[in-house]
Amino acid sequence: MTPAQQLAHTLGRSRRDFLRDAAGLAVGSALFSASPLVRGAVAQKKRKTIVITFGGGARDQETFSPEGQENVPNMLKQLIPRSSFFTQVENQGILGHYVATASLATGVYETLNNFSAVPPQHPTVFEYFRKDLRRPVSDAWVVAPSNGFNRIGASDHRGYGDGLGAGVILPKHLLRAAMPAISGSDATHLLRDNYEDPFYTPEMAGNEVQLKQLDEILRLSVGDFTHHALTLSSPDELSVYIARQLMRQLAPSLLWITLHDIDIAHSGAYSLYIDGIRRTDRLCVELWNAIQSEPEYKDCTTMFILPDFGRDSDADAGGNGFQHHRTGDALSRTTWLMALGPGVRQGVAVNRPVDSLDLVPTLGALFGFPTPLAQGKPITEVI
Ligand SMILES: [Zn+2]
Repeated sequence: MTPAQQLAHTLGRSRRDFLRDAAGLAVGSALFSASPLVRGAVAQKKRKTIVITFGGGARDQETFSPEGQENVPNMLKQLIPRSSFFTQVENQGILGHYVATASLATGVYETLNNFSAVPPQHPTVFEYFRKDLRRPVSDAWVVAPSNGFNRIGASDHRGYGDGLGAGVILPKHLLRAAMPAISGSDATHLLRDNYEDPFYTPEMAGNEVQLKQLDEILRLSVGDFTHHALTLSSPDELSVYIARQLMRQLAPSLLWITLHDIDIAHSGAYSLYIDGIRRTDRLCVELWNAIQSEPEYKDCTTMFILPDFGRDSDADAGGNGFQHHRTGDALSRTTWLMALGPGVRQGVAVNRPVDSLDLVPTLGALFGFPTPLAQGKPITEVI
């Protein structure tokens, strides 16, 4: 093993041990698979999947390690015992949020410029899903944190592309369009777009289409939307509000929610980073509870939660590890994945290495569509 692989392995093992102590997790020592009986029952109902990317990455010492567990009490008590938890997920790609999230969605390490509004080069899971299963545009949605994600719904790959992609909703963009005079108002905290590069403002399509979406798709008047938005304390809360509206109105089978509040760590304010983790912890459980309370989703939905990548370690003297993800060290590349839902074994930690690219083939195997250009492998324990 290389030193990086060794560190990744150690991280995975300590995650497993921390969780075993805190949440009574068992250890999945051999490969196992989802229960075929439950799988059959789900097939009779329409299968759904919700993917949540966990907010721009948080480190173990602020989450699953003993000193961090006070920041993730909801996930520890309510989600971990119901999940198969993969302790060692490696991201070998570029550690920028748009390019990494695009890579999670294509199953290929994309090399696009993180700070440009370009589509992924390889087909997204949304395109595979809609093309092979002949699903309408209303059945696949992305709720994304910032303007830079506006192209994530579809690639520019030949044979796929725009007409087959997911609908993308950018809640902050909607809010800005709904309230042109918002700058300087109480809602500016909801509009912070990008925590990494303050000079980056990608071009967007016209506002009209966006606001029409609000009314026609989400059945929300602009007035109700802005009124509710102003009661929220963060962009991720706005995203979850929109996601819940989508679940209620369209009940999409494939819903992808990218949370991003944690990335405020780039500002260097540790307390805001911790606030972001605590909020994300709460919002993940809120989404799980939403699944249980929506008849269209209950008992037929698999939920995946995973960070796009981690954050830097404190090994660099004078460094401020939590703040950025620049070094590409093992800590910033090694994350975890939680899978929950019918047929998924509960309360188990899996310590074998999984690659970030394995998500797309896993979704393909769950839904029954091929993912020919994706490079990962299906995670056998959840299919
Ligand atoms: Zn970041």
